[in-house]
Amino acid sequence: MSYFKKIEYEIVLKDSFWIIRNCPKCGTKTHFINTKKFRVNANGNRLDIWLIYHCVECKHTLNLAIYERKKVSSIPKEEYQCFLDNDIQLAEMYGKNMQLFRTNKADIDFDRLHYGLVKLHETIESSILGEQILITVKNPYQMKIRSEKQIAL
Ligand SMILES: [Zn+2]
Repeated sequence: MSYFKKIEYEIVLKDSFWIIRNCPKCGTKTHFINTKKFRVNANGNRLDIWLIYHCVECKHTLNLAIYERKKVSSIPKEEYQCFLDNDIQLAEMYGKNMQLFRTNKADIDFDRLHYGLVKLHETIESSILGEQILITVKNPYQMKIRSEKQIAL
């Protein structure tokens, strides 16, 4: 009896995205990294919440808007508390949220990604066509990954 083995992996980011942009203070293109801190600004019953990035060279800050003019009541209480507490897990989650970078027009440096592969599942079926292995890799971030890296699982 032969087997048909299917293995599925997913690419997971290990660290927040790095932004590449012109730093007004350095006067040149630099990298901005996640400080893992939030800035919360209350204005009446409206909230602005940003994730704070800063220049690796001079610490010049760059705020990425998570919520703008959002009603206090429309933000889940638990999440709001995490913003106030500068919850690291939440800050890292937003730091890997591609949508946030898109809406803030922040350029992600795709050459500086720290990622790993996590095995999602493996199935084995009997096969009449001889031994086969199918490896699929989910790539939720559409990262450009060199094939030799994928093969070296
Ligand atoms: Zn700078």
